[in-house]
Order: sequence, then C-alpha cells, then structure tokens
Amino acid sequence: MSWKEHVRAVEPYVPGEQPAEKNIIKLNTNENPYPPAPGVRKALAELQAEDMRLYPDPTAGLLVEKLAEEYRVKKEQIFVGVGSDDVLAMAFLTFFNGEDPILFPDVSYSFYEVWADCFRVPYKEIPLTEDWQIDPDDYTVKNGGILFPNPNAPTGIAMPLDGIRKILDANRDVVVIVDEAYVDFGAESALPLLEEYDNLLVVQTFSKSRSMAGMRIGFAMGNEELIRCLSDVRYSFNSYTMNRPSILAGAAALEDRAYFRHTVQTIINTRDSVKEELEEMGFFCLDSRANFLFVTHPDMAASELFRKLRERGMYVRYFARPRIDNYLRITIGTTKQMQVFLDTVRLILQGKR
Ligand SMILES: *Cc1c(COP(=O)(O)O)cnc(C)c1O
Repeated sequence: MSWKEHVRAVEPYVPGEQPAEKNIIKLNTNENPYPPAPGVRKALAELQAEDMRLYPDPTAGLLVEKLAEEYRVKKEQIFVGVGSDDVLAMAFLTFFNGEDPILFPDVSYSFYEVWADCFRVPYKEIPLTEDWQIDPDDYTVKNGGILFPNPNAPTGIAMPLDGIRKILDANRDVVVIVDEAYVDFGAESALPLLEEYDNLLVVQTFSKSRSMAGMRIGFAMGNEELIRCLSDVRYSFNSYTMNRPSILAGAAALEDRAYFRHTVQTIINTRDSVKEELEEMGFFCLDSRANFLFVTHPDMAASELFRKLRERGMYVRYFARPRIDNYLRITIGTTKQMQVFLDTVRLILQGKR
C-alpha cells in the first residue's frame, strides 16, 4: 500500500508563459496592454499594511454592491471569486454532480476538461462546426450541464443571443454557464436572459477588459437560488476568498466607466486594423470579437512562426491540439506593440531575418 494509490492524479492546465525578462512583447495570455483605471492606483496607494491584520469582509460587500449597480442586478444575484477560474471551479463543484456528461465545445477554454477530470465529472466535447461556430442544435443530447465561452476562446467567435436562447430552451433542467471572459470586446452578453432562465449562470472577469489579471477578480451572475448554492459551497471551502486589496481595487475599477469604454474601444480598433494587415500578408483570421486574433498562414506552419517570433522576443500562444495546431492566438497589445509585431511577422515571412 502506498499513499500514491490515493492521490487525486490530474493532468494540470498549462497557463501561458510569464517571462521574467522585461523587453518581451507579450501577446500570449490575453492580458490588457493598458493599465487599470487611475482610481485603482489610488485605492491601492491608500492601503495600509496594518489593515491586513484583520480578515477581509467574507461577503466582499463593497465589490458586490458596485457590481450590482453596474450590471443592474440584485446583490443576491452576484457571486465573486479569485478570478473567473475560481468562480468556474466552484460552479463545477456546485452544479455538476450528476451521472450524465456535461457538454462543452471541443475547441474551447482548455481548463474545462481539466476541472472535469479533477472533480471526476463525466463530460462530452461537442465539435464546433467546420466554420468554427457553436451550433445550438448540437446541444440537445442528454446532459448534466453545459458551459461555453462567448465569445469562444481561442477562436474569438461570438454567438448571437438567439443561439444562447436556443440552447437554454432545450436545456431547462441543467445549469448552463456562459463564460463571458471576453464579452466586453464586442459580443452580446447573456445578462438580459437572466430574468427568463433561472438555470443560467453568466461568468465574467476583471482580468481582460479591466486590465486586472494580477488582482484575480472574477464574478458570476444568476438567479438568487443558483448564487446561494454557489455561496454555500464556497463557504464550505474557503470563506475569505477575496482579499482586501482586490475588494477595494475592484470597486474602484467599476467607478470609472469612461476609462473602461475608452481602453476597450482602443483594443477593438487595434484588433480590426491588425486583422486587416495580417490578411494583406496572406493570413486567414477568424472573425474575433475578443482581445485576440486566431490566425493561420498557408505558407508557414504555425509552430514555426511561433518559434521564430519567440526567438525575436515576441510571445504568442500556440496550442498543439487537434484541429488548431496550425493556428496562433495573438493577444492585441498597444498600437505600438502591434506595429512592431506586424513588421516582424512581415520580415519572417519574407525570410529576410
Ligand atoms: C482568461 C479566461 C478565464 C479566466 O480568467 P481569470 O483570470 O481567472 O478571471 C476564463 N475563461 C476564459 C475563456 C478565459 O479566456
């Protein structure tokens, strides 16, 4: 007998690299290239080490209140966690405990299958269509729950609200989770459907559109009953999930709508012009509504381009996975970074360097 027989063996999720060097152009983990709203800096500057002596508010009340205001839902309809990864993990633990497989797309956020394995949840991957869409008609098989990102990752393709409605109509008895990590960059949020569907959970994050990946703030919105179930599980796991700096910084970020809109719009504009330039170079780019582009080139393998970019200090994301192993996911950086990136790609393609 060995303790090894009783280990929860899992194949871990592999996050994108976080290089220590400073002069890397880092387009590999969909971080926002712009700083958080100025109010965040102020909130953090006012923090006192002395304040850390006490536990934080277990309800993260200040943050929840601001979120309720911003998204026009009741406080009781909001659940917060340490990044949306934490929120999603709690949702797996809370809602996916049946015998039937949960469903998610085959090309999607690869963390889903890691949680399913980790929590021993049976799952079935539903292939995206040939043109990378989630087809709602494929989500009518018997299942124990459904989750998908909208826009999807790493494709960036968004599903219109009537598609989501179709999935919800066919699945009234299980929890349907829409992971809206990138929704602010141009997709329609499923939030308006909350009133009609008590089994819908909408998950969002401060990591991308609010430039706060390092703070780890995620949240879910849904029917009060769903949120109560999530909270019960969380309080049975770790009751002080949100630390003091995160609660204050998150609340401060929500106060500055103008800054939020401006930075998000800048990234959208950059994305659209970078897409045009890549297409002129012969790339095929999916129609992204996120802060990244998913692209392939007929004349150079994605793995090779990935390597050559890396040698030149430019990190993008490459997934050696079925169907997508000839694609690169490129996070949208500042306009300046993207100009350097495009120039480098052009030179690599011309074989000049
Ligand atoms: C980035 C991302 C998340 C997780 O983000 P957090 O930093 O944990 O909030 C969740 N889902 C998708 C699809 C993502 O791309």
